[in-house]
Amino acid sequence: MKLNIQNTFTKELPADPILENTRRQVANACYSFVKPTPTAKPQLVHASEEVSELLGITKDDLASSEFLKVFTGNSILENTEPYAMCYGGHQFGNWAGQLGDGRAINLTEINYNNQQWALQLKGAGATPYSRTADGLAVLRSSIREYLCSEAMFHLGVPTTRALSLSLSGDDVLRDMLYDGNAAYEKGAIVCRVAPNFIRFGSFEILAAREDVKNLKKLVDYTIQHFYTHLGKPSKETYLAFFKEVATKTLVMIIHWQRVGFVHGVMNTDNLSILGLTIDYGPYGWLEPYDYDWTPNTTDKQNKRYRYGNQPNIGLWNLLKLANALFPLIEEAAPLEAILESYKTDFETKQLQMMKAKIGLSISDKEDQNLIQELEKNLHVSETDMTLFFRNLSTVNSNDTFTEALTKITDAFYNPQEIEGVLKEKWEVWFQKYTTRLQKENLLDADRKTAMNLVNPKYVLRNYMAQIAIDAADKGDYSVIEELFQLLKKPYDEQKNSEKWFVKRPEWARHKVGCSKLSCSS
Ligand code: AMP
Ligand code: MG
Repeated sequence: MKLNIQNTFTKELPADPILENTRRQVANACYSFVKPTPTAKPQLVHASEEVSELLGITKDDLASSEFLKVFTGNSILENTEPYAMCYGGHQFGNWAGQLGDGRAINLTEINYNNQQWALQLKGAGATPYSRTADGLAVLRSSIREYLCSEAMFHLGVPTTRALSLSLSGDDVLRDMLYDGNAAYEKGAIVCRVAPNFIRFGSFEILAAREDVKNLKKLVDYTIQHFYTHLGKPSKETYLAFFKEVATKTLVMIIHWQRVGFVHGVMNTDNLSILGLTIDYGPYGWLEPYDYDWTPNTTDKQNKRYRYGNQPNIGLWNLLKLANALFPLIEEAAPLEAILESYKTDFETKQLQMMKAKIGLSISDKEDQNLIQELEKNLHVSETDMTLFFRNLSTVNSNDTFTEALTKITDAFYNPQEIEGVLKEKWEVWFQKYTTRLQKENLLDADRKTAMNLVNPKYVLRNYMAQIAIDAADKGDYSVIEELFQLLKKPYDEQKNSEKWFVKRPEWARHKVGCSKLSCSS
């Protein structure tokens, strides 16, 4: 395997001088050198040819024993020095101090086709940042990360990617629901890939420690390599940097809202400085359209990270990033102005996105109301988000109410509820909608095509991932492969895969892993 190794992060930023792998507070440094822990019996479960091509890894490489060893941490590539990154974070609204890569180890950074990539193992053993935990990951959560990050990429959502999923051969003890019922599960390792894995929390920890010298180094490094067009370090450049991070974060979250993705743990340590979706844990996909839904049982009380609150949390996290960057800028007003513009940009982008979902392109002052009324209707009776919007594209501008309703009726979890007042509400809405469609200068067929490019037909519903997990636990990886292929083309009809274009089955309503997930992974 020939990789173009180019370690800018470790070359240009300060290292923790201690080389021992002991748990500790790491001051005046951005990372600690640490080696992955060898595993008992590594076995490759799945690898992405597409991601390997991005890195210059050939098909033959993928099949080699070297690939397996390197990407399970059992062998270290020549001229590389693996490291874990130091960061802090606000967890569920509170400053948590140093967190860091407790179970992630960057193997190296490479450059291929003029693109920089960091290769990172998740679950490859303890690091100085592991605190009280074991540094490992289980197969269940690793399948979820592997499949979802690739699915998100193909949905057009900015995200970290995944190269490989392997079993470690070791068993890992987990109390999945934190209820005192710990059990052994299969250990696994995912190799994830991104231009970098720098988080909001990477800056916060340096600011919290008043380490302005290294804060400046990290900001300058990030701008020089990833926001190169912003130019040389200066207050203006830092502000322009913050503005771009704010925009990228908002764009990412609007995509989440569009496809119905709920991250579940939007702590500041889980927000990428590149605006990539990162750290797939207790995430979930909206099935019944519900602004209050969160998949994360750890967040059941306050629902801080519920679907409808994600854009607000993006802003809250950006405020924390602004505080961290403040020592380099020393002026609050321009930072506040950028945060203010997030709010107005959100209104504009959210409206644009929702209009695209219902197939509207020209502007009309009633559009906002039309969307609000639709959302109200979707909330009254459980309505599947993915089915509803996908099927809405088949509604024609001259359809009668009965014709339109028939086309979307599959999306209702309890179609018998669509009677009386609720049916009237839908009738009012569809009448307004079809009238509004007539104002668009588009053929029904063309609108359908456009809508089908923003409303996916296939997403990684929670129960689908669980089916793949249950099969994999028994050694059958065929569902992983099936979903991996399916989710490469989420907007295509894929007629032979219609069995995945259905509402969540009733058995999954309360099943652990399908509706309830915890941070235990
Ligand atoms: P999360 O919110 O799951 O992204 O993780 C929060 C923090 O806990 C991060 O610093 C992780 O590295 C750390 N962490 C989570 N699980 C483990 C584990 N099994 N071993 C060590 N550290 C962990
Ligand atoms: Mg994390």
